[in-house]
Amino acid sequence: MQRYLWQQAGGRRHVYDTERDIAAPGRALVALCGEVVTPTVDDITGLWLDRTCLACDREVRVRLGFPADEIPPVPALEGAK
Ligand SMILES: [Zn+2]
Repeated sequence: MQRYLWQQAGGRRHVYDTERDIAAPGRALVALCGEVVTPTVDDITGLWLDRTCLACDREVRVRLGFPADEIPPVPALEGAK
């Protein structure tokens, strides 16, 4: 099993650490971006149509040791878009 997995919750697709959290409906988890989000039943079983959390996307690349040219710059604060 991969250590870091994507999970839609709270209106975005975040990444979480499977050594810390388990994705389950109604169970809060700490995303790599620092947000605490709680997936709904639809988030677990449904289609993932929400946008990607750019902070999680960046953080998981750093943790997995991606080459520097594949690590995007720190995203602008959410809400600035
Ligand atoms: Zn996130």
